[in-house]
Amino acid sequence: MRILVTGGAGFIGSAVVRLAVSRGYDVVNLDALTYAACLENLASIEDQPNYSFEKVDLRQRNAIDEAVEKHKPDAIMHLAAESHVDRSIDGPEDFIDTNIKGTYNILEAARSYWERIGRPDGFRFHHISTDEVFGSLPMDKSVKFTEETPYDPRSPYSASKAASDHLVRAWNATYGLPVVLSNCSNNYGPYHFPEKLIPVTILNALAGKPLPIYGDGSNIRDWLYVEDHADALIEVMKNGQVGRSYNIGGNNEASNLDLVNALCAILDELHPKSIGNYADQITFVADRPGHDARYAIDATRIQDELGWEPTVTLEEGLHKTVRWYLDNETWWRPLQQREGVGKRLGTKV
Ligand code: NAD
Repeated sequence: MRILVTGGAGFIGSAVVRLAVSRGYDVVNLDALTYAACLENLASIEDQPNYSFEKVDLRQRNAIDEAVEKHKPDAIMHLAAESHVDRSIDGPEDFIDTNIKGTYNILEAARSYWERIGRPDGFRFHHISTDEVFGSLPMDKSVKFTEETPYDPRSPYSASKAASDHLVRAWNATYGLPVVLSNCSNNYGPYHFPEKLIPVTILNALAGKPLPIYGDGSNIRDWLYVEDHADALIEVMKNGQVGRSYNIGGNNEASNLDLVNALCAILDELHPKSIGNYADQITFVADRPGHDARYAIDATRIQDELGWEPTVTLEEGLHKTVRWYLDNETWWRPLQQREGVGKRLGTKV
């Protein structure tokens, strides 16, 4: 089976590519290599005969058509996106162009290819999306996002992802394109780009810098270990029901403040400071405008229908992640020089 993965040089896409290549799929990685991309994420598999890379920008339809025609995939897993909420506040246009128009372009390229090859039922277009499309939950832990929760995106990022989800469903209803969708919670783990909360916390801690907490740190996220997510995505691509969406979560809710404190405690254990604790570096900063209070996933559907469950607890995943950053400075150090990394973004009101 040949899978074309978009965004395979990013954080989650590279985990999907590494896993799929190791499982023997033919994998073609289509990526524009934006500031968030890192081909080093693929060093462990780049020489494998069942892996290839095409530098393609989803904003250019012709280039997508050429790559699809050249590689003739059985499935497309669409992960490429602008993904950082703070950047979407400062510059929403890239999010509209890539997440909406780019999704439209790859959908149209997929449709035209699928029609040309005789509309096979077995073809799949898997769109990877976020739980942020559902908006913000109350703190009451009995309420979670299901696949039926109405869309209520509140940031330019989540609005652009919501729009892309609607396009994908419309291409199924209108043209019959065999699509599946998944909406996941916050991912973390190795190769996480150093502008997101967990790597920023680890790397600032090691550098003796302040550990910024937006607002009062009470915002809750449901944390999903990236390698668990990659496994779930391959399951949805292979066995998900056409036209259906699956919520994927880690069953690991934590407030941002509790999460940062947990990371500090792990660093105290694995890499103790000479004086004091890492938590002493915690600093409260101005909140993100429109900061969603809580996300939490009800993952009953993927568990009941596909038998999939996360395997990594938050404690175990955070340990593995901290250990990975301690051991991989040559990966993260150069990325800290990229544009915008290390700066406070997304404070516009
Ligand atoms: P990322 O920012 O790490 O990687 C995105 C990749 O897409 C990069 O390699 C980038 O070069 C590529 N890309 C961006 N614009 C492109 C374009 N115009 N053409 C081709 N390639 C382009 O993102 P991620 O965190 O790995 O997220 C992957 C997907 O998962 C996204 O669709 C995101 O919305 C979704 N998601 C992520 C999370 C999370 O916690 N990271 C949570 C829920 C959903």
